[in-house]
Amino acid sequence: MEFHKELGNKLIEWGASFVGFSNVEKKLPENLKKLKYAITIGVRLSDFIIEQIEDKPTYTYFHHYRTVNTLIDQITLKGQLFIQDRGYKALGVPASQTVNDVEDAYSGIFPHKTAAVMAGLGWIGKSGLFISNQYGPRVRLGTILTDISVPAVNNIQKPLCGSCKECVVNCPAMAITGALWEEGCERSLIIDAKACSDYMKEKFKHIGRGSVCGICIKVCPKGLNYI
Ligand code: SF4
Ligand code: SF4
Repeated sequence: MEFHKELGNKLIEWGASFVGFSNVEKKLPENLKKLKYAITIGVRLSDFIIEQIEDKPTYTYFHHYRTVNTLIDQITLKGQLFIQDRGYKALGVPASQTVNDVEDAYSGIFPHKTAAVMAGLGWIGKSGLFISNQYGPRVRLGTILTDISVPAVNNIQKPLCGSCKECVVNCPAMAITGALWEEGCERSLIIDAKACSDYMKEKFKHIGRGSVCGICIKVCPKGLNYI
């Protein structure tokens, strides 16, 4: 069996809901350039837990968010070691980690969304969230960067929000501008990440240590298709 199919099957077996492949060389920082292929995994979130979110996150959602992140880190770690055993380099990008020494203080070492969109698995909504083709925004993403060659899709989809503004009008921080995402656009055109983060820290510190909200995930109609 071809390696990418074998790995894809393993990633699903380990808990991924879907898998995709892309070549992200042009998007990588200099220190990661050698790992030009990205393997994206997505884990579907619990509809029951998301539906309990009203005007604030729930304690259960916060636990779910962290548990899914742990699962993603476990899956990408296993994938990383699986690739390494074949004699190639691989790096599991942390599921949820912000790095304060990059230009954007609210970003990680590499954005999972970039690889997921390039893999043709979904698109970026007005909320700035990754909207998966299967489960809307009700997913969390992981990425393995590697130098083993995989068939890259690199088919970037345009946003399918249309005239919907559910996330814009329901965001309590008024952080979502309502602009449509375009390839290469600055995140600040879509969402004020500082306003979102500051609001969560101020209002939801007692629930999710100020790191989760979930309202823009809950209200998005693209996440309702499979309930
Ligand atoms: S997470 Fe909450 S505060 Fe942040 S953009 Fe979404 S709805 Fe607004
Ligand atoms: S809530 Fe509507 S506008 Fe916001 S991301 Fe979802 S489809 Fe797009």
